[in-house]
Amino acid sequence: MTGSPADEPARSPEVIATVRAMRGRVQAAQRAGRRVGVVPTMGALHDGHLSLVAASRAACDVTAATVFVNPTQFGPKEDFSRYPRTMEADLAKLAAAGVDYVFAPEVAEIYPDGATTMVELGGVAEPLEGQFRPGHFRGVATVVLKLFQAVPADAAYFGQKDYQQSLVVRHMVADLLLPIEIVVCPIVRESDGLAMSSRNIYLSADERQRALSICRALEAAQVLVAGGERNAERIAAQMQTTLRDSGVESIDYAAVVDADTLAPIQRIESCAVALVAARVGATRLIDNAILDIRSAR
Ligand code: AMP
Repeated sequence: MTGSPADEPARSPEVIATVRAMRGRVQAAQRAGRRVGVVPTMGALHDGHLSLVAASRAACDVTAATVFVNPTQFGPKEDFSRYPRTMEADLAKLAAAGVDYVFAPEVAEIYPDGATTMVELGGVAEPLEGQFRPGHFRGVATVVLKLFQAVPADAAYFGQKDYQQSLVVRHMVADLLLPIEIVVCPIVRESDGLAMSSRNIYLSADERQRALSICRALEAAQVLVAGGERNAERIAAQMQTTLRDSGVESIDYAAVVDADTLAPIQRIESCAVALVAARVGATRLIDNAILDIRSAR
């Protein structure tokens, strides 16, 4: 394992901007028998991202993080141009976390002039975010595939925070026979329960307070399930009520669906997932909780 003991100052990671150089570093490490992990991010890093770095460092000899705000996953009316870009602070956090390489390409390196090829998806990409953010997962899958080409790691670390995204990536990896292990890590929350997100900085103090109803709605769902409730519609209705009671009116969805397929269900028979997407002020937030009655039995 690489990585320095806690009393040594963090070594700055090497920052790499080209696919060629990045691929070379990964391949050299692998030829030397080292296991490489990659953590794809869009920057504006918080402890959620750093938990993925920690998971990679625990299981791999070399860890690369990617910092790339991917234009193709933003809709025309979304926040691509104002998405927070905090590279200096991100590099300091990645250095402290013990990352070995940071892949931070320009857009033209990932989308060369004339590039038109995109990943076409179906199945788990279609409902929920697929309905409310058309084209979003097409952009996500395409950039993840490209990042896996640039950083041909042995394992890639994603967060459960983007639950549907993690399923889309898992399916793409299986369907396209990609030689990489996908690891999904738990959601990291603020002390009051709000799921950490780069977009939380958009929230005013009042909005930040109202945003808490999203994790409260998910907690309410978990409490109902722990109390024996199995009816998906009744659980979803309670989630909607919790959100509305705190003044979150603009709800894209508050749903209880099959945890593997995201298909609608009437009753929870084994493992479901509760997912919420809602706008608080102008900021769209997502969160989720797994409802696994196999562990509750
Ligand atoms: P992003 O920079 O938002 O594209 O996120 C990069 C990765 O970090 C994705 O795999 C996210 O699911 C993951 N992530 C974001 N927020 C959290 C969080 N609060 N806890 C754990 N993982 C997270």
